[in-house]
Amino acid sequence: MEIPITLLSDEKGYFDRECPNENCLYTFKIYMEDWKEKVSDEEIHCPMCGHIDTSEKWWTQKQLEGMQNLAADYAMSLISAKLDEAFGGLARSTRRNKFVKITYKPGHRITFQNNPIGQSEEWETDITCEECGTRYSVIGSAYFCPCCGHNSAVNAFDESMDSVEKMLASLPEMKQMLTASYGRDKAETMCRGLLESSIGDIVSAFQKFAACHYDKLTGKSSRVNDFQIVEKGSRLYKDATGKGYEEWLSDKELSEMNMLFQRRHLIEHNNGMVDQKYIDKSGDDSYIIGQRLVVKESDALTLLAIIKKLGTGLSSIK
Ligand SMILES: [Zn+2]
Ligand SMILES: [Zn+2]
Repeated sequence: MEIPITLLSDEKGYFDRECPNENCLYTFKIYMEDWKEKVSDEEIHCPMCGHIDTSEKWWTQKQLEGMQNLAADYAMSLISAKLDEAFGGLARSTRRNKFVKITYKPGHRITFQNNPIGQSEEWETDITCEECGTRYSVIGSAYFCPCCGHNSAVNAFDESMDSVEKMLASLPEMKQMLTASYGRDKAETMCRGLLESSIGDIVSAFQKFAACHYDKLTGKSSRVNDFQIVEKGSRLYKDATGKGYEEWLSDKELSEMNMLFQRRHLIEHNNGMVDQKYIDKSGDDSYIIGQRLVVKESDALTLLAIIKKLGTGLSSIK
């Protein structure tokens, strides 16, 4: 039995897909035309986890449900045709019967349409693969092109910076909401935690991007931690390409970057408690040993601006 199904793209021309890897189940969209024309039947890559599978495995739960309903409806319509015959006849034959009356209403028909997941404007990103041109769309960050598997370090980096920026912008509002639900003390602690983790997010996004871009440029393989130390990362780029971080950042920005990288290290490894090593490495004279670092919103914004500038600079090296 064959059931005709029409798959529709959403209003922007994208088609919903879901990773078949059970640990992932990431939902993304791919431009319908590219799905039909560009991708091979043998190899689809999950943008999030990189899982590779054949093309018929990528139905979303909603699509499967929709198809199941359609199959059930189709079967029902076959049965109801039979019922129409049987009961229609019976109803006609009982129409004039005083004691038994059977009425029968033929079933309605349902058509299946692909149900696109809601477009959330704020967090959704349209990406065009720089290698193969496939257009896809994700919520949050993604790492691999569904068609060719290309890992776009630049896109992932931009997306992370964007998320941190939006998070920082929404902090005052979040604080209000958290205060209403948990009281001022808890809200304060939670927001401080978010602020501190934003510094960590910026640094780790930068490290990943810098390592990935370096490897691509040089054909060597670096470690993500090579870019945890500002001076070391800059030297690696300088030796390989003739351009260090000072190409795009002033001395002041470089020393701020170094200090904020050191602060992140301290928060992560010493719970933010200032020690001699931190003071030596950061050149920060605003604290004494034994104090707890206080991360301010301006720290996060400063670091974000510096890293965005540096990221743009580094990605201009081809
Ligand atoms: Zn996946
Ligand atoms: Zn691609």
